[in-house]
Amino acid sequence: MSVGVSLPASSVDRKAEDSLGEFCWSELADRVIAGHQLTREEGLAILASKDEELLDVLGAAYKVRRKHFGRKVHLYFLKNAKSGLCPEDCGYCSQSKVAESEIPKYAMLNEAKLMEGAARAVEASARTYCIVASGRGPSNREVNHVASVAKKIKETYGLHICCCLGLLSPDQAKTLAEAGVDRINHNLNTGRNFYDKICTTHTYDDRLETLRVVREAGMELCSGLIVGMGETQNDLVDVAFELRDLGVESIPVNFLHAIDGTPLERKADLDPRQCLRALCLFRLANPTVEIRVSGGREVNLRSMQAMSLYAANSMFVSDYLTTKGQPAEDDFKMVQDLGMEVVIGDHEAYLAWKAAQSGEPSQGCGTNSVCGSGSHAATTCHG
Ligand code: SF4
Repeated sequence: MSVGVSLPASSVDRKAEDSLGEFCWSELADRVIAGHQLTREEGLAILASKDEELLDVLGAAYKVRRKHFGRKVHLYFLKNAKSGLCPEDCGYCSQSKVAESEIPKYAMLNEAKLMEGAARAVEASARTYCIVASGRGPSNREVNHVASVAKKIKETYGLHICCCLGLLSPDQAKTLAEAGVDRINHNLNTGRNFYDKICTTHTYDDRLETLRVVREAGMELCSGLIVGMGETQNDLVDVAFELRDLGVESIPVNFLHAIDGTPLERKADLDPRQCLRALCLFRLANPTVEIRVSGGREVNLRSMQAMSLYAANSMFVSDYLTTKGQPAEDDFKMVQDLGMEVVIGDHEAYLAWKAAQSGEPSQGCGTNSVCGSGSHAATTCHG
């Protein structure tokens, strides 16, 4: 499809597109690499592109991904630190007060359980450990607990820490930043105009305010969305551009996994090709930002999962909050089959600690002594 025209995507002459398609998508990638900001028309054209063009669009996204991230893949490991019991009404969420889903419900995990999760993150070669708690926002006691455990995890394992705890006050954000938390996840979830269709107990502006206090406290921002909740293509472009304007460091792109018992349980609007187009939109709109193919990857992308990594440069390994992911071994195999490389964390502190336990000298990551198991064949070690 020609992306430099001023007509809406639907009215572009298809014959002209066919003859120009490959050249124009590649040219768009070159312009984005040179600093061009994706326009709304181009964003909509990506989402409306034809199936025949899919590889060309994905090729453009990959060109940009390769320029900024090479063939590297960052892995994230999630720990559901507090499950269910949430008073909010987010329509996609099995942990909400309005959901009747059968999920485990428990209060904030203790230090031992959170440390155990961090050890699993290291074993899975994750670079970042995500501590996620359900709820509108944490109590000060919960924030102090997470801050203290995060500090210990960083000292012990050298993992990057991202916390997702709901709406935060400036003081809470400051406490987490002072403990060394690298990043806070707080998703916008969808565009401003659609937000009140998926949640009524807090607003889009509440979410923006938390992102603001996190930035003010000096932490990185991770904020993303869920594709497939009934939003329009304009809503998707809205959120892609809002995240660009906010300058977030990381964008998790989730695809609705309609869980039984949630208000969106019967929604099934997505096909794998549409998921790939959405990832291409986010890559081309946010060229230097980490794009993570996230929840709903397995059920929505199905046999095309691997192709998502031509646009995205990171993914979750193992399970999600209340749903299972594919086995970690399959994730590694997928990265290996693509000829890509997993980037793991700064595990020197953990290596030194392990060495002290065994009385042997500390060994680098290249020995595979800690970061690699038989299933981590695709692993390379970077800080
Ligand atoms: S605030 Fe978080 S845990 Fe609560 S319903 Fe919304 S998404 Fe789920």
